[in-house]
Amino acid sequence: MPNQAYNYLGEIMAKKILLLLICLLVTGCGEKEIKTTIESGDNYVSINYPVTNISALDDAVSSYVNQVYTNFKNNYQDYHKPELNISYTYKELNDSVINISLSTEINAGNKTNKIKTFTYDKKTGKFLTMEDIVKDLDVLDYDIKKALLEKYQEADMDFLTNVSYDYFTIDDENLTIYFNPTELKADKNELIYLDIPLNSLKMLIDIDKSKSDETYFQLKKRNISFDDKIVALTFDDGPSKYTEKILDVLKKYDACGTFFVIGNKVDFYDETLNRMLKEGNEIGNHSYSHKWLNRLSEQEFKDELNKTQTEVKKATGFTPRLFRPTYGGYSDRLKQYTDLIFVLWDVDSSDWKVKNTDKILKNVLPNVKDGSIVLMHDNHKYAADAIEEVVKSLKEKGYQFVTVSELLELKELREND
Ligand code: ZN
Repeated sequence: MPNQAYNYLGEIMAKKILLLLICLLVTGCGEKEIKTTIESGDNYVSINYPVTNISALDDAVSSYVNQVYTNFKNNYQDYHKPELNISYTYKELNDSVINISLSTEINAGNKTNKIKTFTYDKKTGKFLTMEDIVKDLDVLDYDIKKALLEKYQEADMDFLTNVSYDYFTIDDENLTIYFNPTELKADKNELIYLDIPLNSLKMLIDIDKSKSDETYFQLKKRNISFDDKIVALTFDDGPSKYTEKILDVLKKYDACGTFFVIGNKVDFYDETLNRMLKEGNEIGNHSYSHKWLNRLSEQEFKDELNKTQTEVKKATGFTPRLFRPTYGGYSDRLKQYTDLIFVLWDVDSSDWKVKNTDKILKNVLPNVKDGSIVLMHDNHKYAADAIEEVVKSLKEKGYQFVTVSELLELKELREND
């Protein structure tokens, strides 16, 4: 009898393992992440998009991104420092349906904007259209056109007869429909959109409203002596899946860093941000979508900053007080539009360029002095690979790690001494 029971259990185990394998095969069971590509030099490129590990969805998203990138590289290089900026929204509407939008801005002499959205149902393996989401679209059609005419008076009547609802996003309050300007024949090159409150619609799918449990953190205080040799490590362009590894190392050596985050990615990595604060790191603002700031109007610049402030506050309860300008570029004009403290660096690891731990160490170690701010990036693996050596070596040289706020505070104290 015991033998039989054993066999029976064994069979259950085998079935479980088989199920697990099938799950791995079907879904990949991988981790979601946001991919970030930042390039500067002859042009400015900043691309952020989600990777879900659902291959049909990822293929559609990445092939769209590649197509936009290739098109940019082929068609805009005659302009002085053209800029490509792709930002995203990511929303799980319920357990099965994911909605992703990719918003492209190309700045080359003048600006062009484009949007593309993807709505994917994991259960059926299908991309969904508006007809799958909203009931009685025919009835809605009239109201949408009327609202469009009211909002955009230059909208062309011919266009309105052909209007299609290919691009939409859904958040907790609104269904937002987007129209590419070229399709609307509008003069303005801004994206045209309409917000429709969800509670005024008959929805064909259930939307899970996100729970907002807010947590509040205070910066941890460190014991630093007045004349300790101090250094602040800073990490730009994250968070990403590599950030956790950096946090592991900082924790292991009782060190800390300041993470200048891209606001667009904060919601996706809110747990990583909470960990940063809990373990005594600081969060700074690195704009919302990583645009070249000097081309922005006052309002656009303020939006880039404020949206990130709001995202970080919403995710962690912490309000950043530091700002790192994208591509390290800014003018005095921009400084007057915000109370945030602009923070640059004096030691550049060039990690994204050299892609190698030894070279990163060579760029950092000989150049760090008391009070240095070191620039690294946590959107790729190179800094994550090098961080343990960097921290260990600096510690051996007698450095104390501080956040940028602590560094500025201590510098001020020393100056007034
Ligand atoms: Zn950056």
